[in-house]
Amino acid sequence: MELRGKLVRSLGALREMLPGSFVERKRACGRPTCHCADGKNLHSQYQISVLVDGKPKAFNIPAELAVKIREKIEMRRRFDAAVATICGINLRRFLQEKDKP
Ligand SMILES: [Zn+2]
Repeated sequence: MELRGKLVRSLGALREMLPGSFVERKRACGRPTCHCADGKNLHSQYQISVLVDGKPKAFNIPAELAVKIREKIEMRRRFDAAVATICGINLRRFLQEKDKP
């Protein structure tokens, strides 16, 4: 099963994956002289939104880490997609072989 082997080998590259979703919020900092005071040129605040012990939490991400953290959250999506494909292959295999003598 060439596809399955390829998918399994790809999982190691996703070991830095993170759960949850990446959120970008726009906000004003409140300083009256800041460029954000016009209400249009707002600051970006990045967050990771994630369940911790079943409860939704949001943690701020420093701007310099935003790109990296976003990638790690995206890894989780690729991991889940690969696992679903692998399980589908294995289920089809099982269903094909279970009734063979
Ligand atoms: Zn500001």
